Amino acid sequence: MQSTTPCIAIVGAGPAGLALARVLHLGGLPATLYEQEAGPHDRPQGGTLDLHEGTGLLAIERTGLQCEFSRIARPEDQGERLYNRHGELLFDQAQSAGDHRPEVDRQALRGMLLDSIPADRVRWGCALRQAEPNGDGRWRLHLAGTGATSAPVFDLVVGADGAWSRLRPLLSAYRPQYSGLTLLEFGIDDVDHRHPAVAALVGRGKMMVQGQGISLIAQRNGHGHIRCYACFRVPADWVGRRFDLNDPARVRAQLLTEFDGFAPAIRQLILAGNGHFRPLPIHALPVGHHWAHVRGLSLIGDAAHLMSPFAGEGVNAALLDAVELGRHLVAAHQQGRDWDAALQQAETTMFERVIEAAAGSAEAAAEQLSHDGEALTLEHMIRHHAPSAPLAPALTQD
Ligand SMILES: Cc1cc2nc3c(=O)[nH]c(=O)nc-3n(C[C@H](O)[C@H](O)[C@H](O)COP(=O)(O)OP(=O)(O)OC[C@H]3O[C@@H](n4cnc5c(N)ncnc54)[C@H](O)[C@@H]3O)c2cc1C
Repeated sequence: MQSTTPCIAIVGAGPAGLALARVLHLGGLPATLYEQEAGPHDRPQGGTLDLHEGTGLLAIERTGLQCEFSRIARPEDQGERLYNRHGELLFDQAQSAGDHRPEVDRQALRGMLLDSIPADRVRWGCALRQAEPNGDGRWRLHLAGTGATSAPVFDLVVGADGAWSRLRPLLSAYRPQYSGLTLLEFGIDDVDHRHPAVAALVGRGKMMVQGQGISLIAQRNGHGHIRCYACFRVPADWVGRRFDLNDPARVRAQLLTEFDGFAPAIRQLILAGNGHFRPLPIHALPVGHHWAHVRGLSLIGDAAHLMSPFAGEGVNAALLDAVELGRHLVAAHQQGRDWDAALQQAETTMFERVIEAAAGSAEAAAEQLSHDGEALTLEHMIRHHAPSAPLAPALTQD
């Protein structure tokens, strides 16, 4: 006879781990969450995310946090613009007439989910080093930073520990592969007051401009912040070799050289940057990544199916994985069914469910900085928005 109330650990307090903890909490199944970061404000969480109907927004509904979400969401920032290197506006849609995809800052999303579970469920500063079988069907976790003398043991361990999951090697031989694309991320602070021309260039949402083998993406975040990504199709170590990341002024000058020939209005994005540069080599797991079920061990979110960010699907898939796994476990618990069979069922449906998003993300990464990149991006934007989306007149170039 299987127990219906497993002792559960979740590794990683990102969107997936926190959403799972929330659904389990609602269903009366407590879980302990181990997070390597020292606290919720240990490091900036990164840029804005758009949540999609049927995945991310459905997951928010299942966590019962729609009201809280509506307080932090920015539906007004769903615009999209495409410029060419001469600063001519090829596409401009202020608000999506198609799908409803509100933006939300990562930090705010994490704060909302954290506030929705008991604070003592999250163990900050506890990095998983290794998990091993305990010899009785349970799993022993070796964690740095717990201060405990013995390693805790759990019936069920869920890896929500992102791209470089420490639990994944126990389930799968696959490792994320470099996509050939590297982003160099930087930010622009207080844009409306300090850089109104840049604010006008970006508009309320996201703008892109593509050249040959390089592109610039800028996204409006909350609090007057704009996050920019210079995108290169290069070897994985190229940014480290090309840019002197310890010297922000030099990086800015080097970036201006890379974007030589782009309109002054576009290059203004680089000049307005706040000097914090972060290289992000983009990796992904193979489309269709899955594993043979192992009792009491699983993965969700990026740990299970890391995708390139170019289709904006990763966090949406991660949130839905979390609430779906939570729903299966809670139902088994409440109906007196075997929790491991419920885990296996959730995994099987996740493998199927994410294939489309993973394939779309792989395709979007392949199109980025291809010879047809600008035309393909324009086509995608027109398809995503209403067919009648207007093409705006060209910008003046300075
Ligand atoms: C530049 C960029 C832009 C993106 N834009 C979008 C977008 O617009 N839309 C979208 O849907 N997706 C986007 N994504 C993808 C999205 O960020 C991820 O899919 C999402 O964050 C996955 O959530 P997660 O909870 O699975 O993993 P993560 O967010 O990576 O969280 C993992 C957590 O686990 C913790 N952790 C890691 N290792 C350990 C360990 N050993 N022990 C304890 N804790 C550990 C980490 O500190 C972290 O808190 C983007 C990604 C990038 C890189």
